Amino acid sequence: MALPSLIDDTPTATTCNQCKTAMAARERFCPSCGADREVEWQVAGLEMTRLASARKWILGIGVWYLISGAIMLLVLRKQLGTDEQRNLVLVTSGGLFAIHLGLYVWAKTAPLAAAVVSLLLFVTLHTANAALDPSTIYKGIVIKVLFVLVLAKAIQAGYEIHRMRNQRA
Ligand SMILES: [Zn+2]
Repeated sequence: MALPSLIDDTPTATTCNQCKTAMAARERFCPSCGADREVEWQVAGLEMTRLASARKWILGIGVWYLISGAIMLLVLRKQLGTDEQRNLVLVTSGGLFAIHLGLYVWAKTAPLAAAVVSLLLFVTLHTANAALDPSTIYKGIVIKVLFVLVLAKAIQAGYEIHRMRNQRA
Protein backbone atom coordinates (compact mmCIF):
# COMPACT_ATOMS: atom_id res chain seq x y z
CA MET A 1 0.00 0.00 0.00
CA ALA A 2 1.40 3.37 -0.96
CA LEU A 3 1.52 5.69 1.99
CA PRO A 4 0.96 9.35 1.22
CA SER A 5 3.48 11.68 2.78
CA LEU A 6 1.21 12.89 5.56
CA ILE A 7 4.02 14.13 7.72
CA ASP A 8 6.77 16.18 6.21
CA ASP A 9 9.59 13.89 7.27
CA THR A 10 8.11 10.57 6.11
CA PRO A 11 10.13 9.48 3.09
CA THR A 12 13.53 10.13 4.62
CA ALA A 13 12.75 9.94 8.36
CA THR A 14 16.00 9.33 10.13
CA THR A 15 14.88 8.86 13.71
CA CYS A 16 12.52 6.35 15.29
CA ASN A 17 9.20 7.86 16.28
CA GLN A 18 9.17 5.83 19.48
CA CYS A 19 12.70 5.95 20.88
CA LYS A 20 14.43 8.60 18.69
CA THR A 21 17.15 6.18 17.62
CA ALA A 22 18.72 7.12 14.29
CA MET A 23 17.42 5.01 11.40
CA ALA A 24 18.62 4.58 7.83
CA ALA A 25 16.05 5.87 5.32
CA ARG A 26 15.39 2.37 3.88
CA GLU A 27 15.04 0.65 7.25
CA ARG A 28 11.50 -0.29 8.20
CA PHE A 29 12.04 -1.49 11.77
CA CYS A 30 13.87 0.47 14.42
CA PRO A 31 17.19 -1.25 15.25
CA SER A 32 16.82 -0.28 18.90
CA CYS A 33 13.18 -0.81 19.91
CA GLY A 34 11.78 -2.60 16.84
CA ALA A 35 9.02 -0.07 16.17
CA ASP A 36 7.51 -0.51 12.69
CA ARG A 37 7.88 2.71 10.75
CA GLU A 38 4.95 1.89 8.48
CA VAL A 39 2.75 1.56 11.57
CA GLU A 40 4.04 4.89 12.79
CA TRP A 41 3.04 6.46 9.47
CA GLN A 42 -0.42 4.94 9.74
CA VAL A 43 -0.78 6.31 13.26
CA ALA A 44 0.17 9.74 11.93
CA GLY A 45 -2.35 9.35 9.10
CA LEU A 46 -5.08 8.43 11.58
CA GLU A 47 -4.33 11.51 13.65
CA MET A 48 -4.58 13.59 10.47
CA THR A 49 -8.07 12.25 9.67
CA ARG A 50 -9.21 12.83 13.24
CA LEU A 51 -7.84 16.35 13.09
CA ALA A 52 -9.72 16.94 9.83
CA SER A 53 -12.96 15.65 11.38
CA ALA A 54 -12.52 17.78 14.52
CA ARG A 55 -12.03 20.84 12.31
CA LYS A 56 -15.15 20.02 10.32
CA TRP A 57 -17.16 19.84 13.54
CA ILE A 58 -15.87 23.22 14.68
CA LEU A 59 -16.86 24.72 11.33
CA GLY A 60 -20.20 22.87 11.46
CA ILE A 61 -21.01 24.39 14.85
CA GLY A 62 -20.25 27.83 13.41
CA VAL A 63 -22.66 27.16 10.55
CA TRP A 64 -25.24 25.97 13.10
CA TYR A 65 -24.96 29.31 14.95
CA LEU A 66 -25.59 31.08 11.65
CA ILE A 67 -28.58 28.88 10.76
CA SER A 68 -30.14 29.15 14.22
CA GLY A 69 -29.79 32.94 13.98
CA ALA A 70 -31.59 32.90 10.65
CA ILE A 71 -34.31 30.61 12.06
CA MET A 72 -34.71 32.90 15.07
CA LEU A 73 -35.21 35.88 12.75
CA LEU A 74 -37.82 34.02 10.70
CA VAL A 75 -39.71 32.26 13.51
CA LEU A 76 -39.56 34.96 16.17
CA ARG A 77 -40.16 37.85 13.80
CA LYS A 78 -43.14 39.03 15.81
CA GLN A 79 -41.43 38.69 19.22
CA LEU A 80 -38.34 40.51 17.95
CA GLY A 81 -40.25 43.74 17.74
CA THR A 82 -37.52 46.31 17.18
CA ASP A 83 -34.80 46.60 14.60
CA GLU A 84 -32.23 46.61 17.43
CA GLN A 85 -33.38 43.18 18.60
CA ARG A 86 -33.22 41.82 15.06
CA ASN A 87 -29.78 43.35 14.52
CA LEU A 88 -28.57 41.84 17.80
CA VAL A 89 -29.55 38.36 16.60
CA LEU A 90 -27.91 39.03 13.24
CA VAL A 91 -24.67 40.36 14.76
CA THR A 92 -24.49 37.59 17.38
CA SER A 93 -24.99 34.70 14.97
CA GLY A 94 -22.80 36.30 12.30
CA GLY A 95 -20.09 37.00 14.87
CA LEU A 96 -20.20 33.45 16.23
CA PHE A 97 -19.92 32.12 12.70
CA ALA A 98 -16.91 34.37 12.02
CA ILE A 99 -15.25 33.23 15.27
CA HIS A 100 -15.72 29.58 14.32
CA LEU A 101 -14.35 30.22 10.85
CA GLY A 102 -11.26 31.60 12.62
CA LEU A 103 -11.16 28.60 14.98
CA TYR A 104 -11.41 26.26 11.98
CA VAL A 105 -8.29 27.84 10.48
CA TRP A 106 -6.52 27.99 13.84
CA ALA A 107 -7.32 24.32 14.56
CA LYS A 108 -4.93 23.33 11.79
CA THR A 109 -1.97 24.40 13.88
CA ALA A 110 -3.50 24.39 17.38
CA PRO A 111 -6.35 21.84 17.37
CA LEU A 112 -6.45 21.45 21.15
CA ALA A 113 -6.69 25.18 21.91
CA ALA A 114 -9.26 25.76 19.13
CA ALA A 115 -11.51 22.94 20.36
CA VAL A 116 -11.26 24.18 23.97
CA VAL A 117 -12.19 27.74 22.93
CA SER A 118 -15.14 26.42 20.91
CA LEU A 119 -16.41 24.38 23.87
CA LEU A 120 -15.94 27.29 26.32
CA LEU A 121 -17.88 29.59 23.97
CA PHE A 122 -20.67 27.07 23.65
CA VAL A 123 -20.95 26.46 27.41
CA THR A 124 -20.69 30.19 28.27
CA LEU A 125 -23.35 31.08 25.73
CA HIS A 126 -25.83 28.51 26.95
CA THR A 127 -25.10 29.23 30.61
CA ALA A 128 -25.77 32.94 29.98
CA ASN A 129 -28.91 32.03 28.07
CA ALA A 130 -30.11 29.81 30.92
CA ALA A 131 -29.37 32.53 33.48
CA LEU A 132 -31.42 35.05 31.48
CA ASP A 133 -34.23 32.62 30.80
CA PRO A 134 -34.17 29.35 32.81
CA SER A 135 -36.78 27.86 30.47
CA THR A 136 -34.11 27.62 27.75
CA ILE A 137 -32.09 24.98 29.68
CA TYR A 138 -34.03 22.06 28.27
CA LYS A 139 -34.63 23.63 24.87
CA GLY A 140 -32.82 21.55 22.29
CA ILE A 141 -31.16 19.54 25.07
CA VAL A 142 -30.38 16.70 22.66
CA ILE A 143 -28.50 19.04 20.32
CA LYS A 144 -26.69 20.63 23.28
CA VAL A 145 -25.53 17.27 24.62
CA LEU A 146 -24.51 16.22 21.09
CA PHE A 147 -22.44 19.39 20.62
CA VAL A 148 -20.69 18.99 23.96
CA LEU A 149 -19.87 15.35 23.08
CA VAL A 150 -18.61 16.33 19.63
CA LEU A 151 -16.46 19.12 21.06
CA ALA A 152 -15.17 16.77 23.75
CA LYS A 153 -14.13 14.38 20.96
CA ALA A 154 -12.43 17.25 19.13
CA ILE A 155 -10.59 18.15 22.35
CA GLN A 156 -9.54 14.52 22.78
CA ALA A 157 -8.22 14.39 19.19
CA GLY A 158 -6.48 17.73 19.71
CA TYR A 159 -4.90 16.48 22.93
CA GLU A 160 -3.63 13.30 21.27
CA ILE A 161 -2.15 15.25 18.36
CA HIS A 162 -0.57 17.67 20.85
CA ARG A 163 0.94 14.73 22.74
CA MET A 164 2.21 13.07 19.54
CA ARG A 165 3.85 16.27 18.34
CA ASN A 166 5.54 16.73 21.69
CA GLN A 167 6.77 13.16 21.65
CA ARG A 168 8.21 13.69 18.19
CA ALA A 169 9.90 16.96 19.06
ZN1 LIG B 1 12.89 2.85 18.23
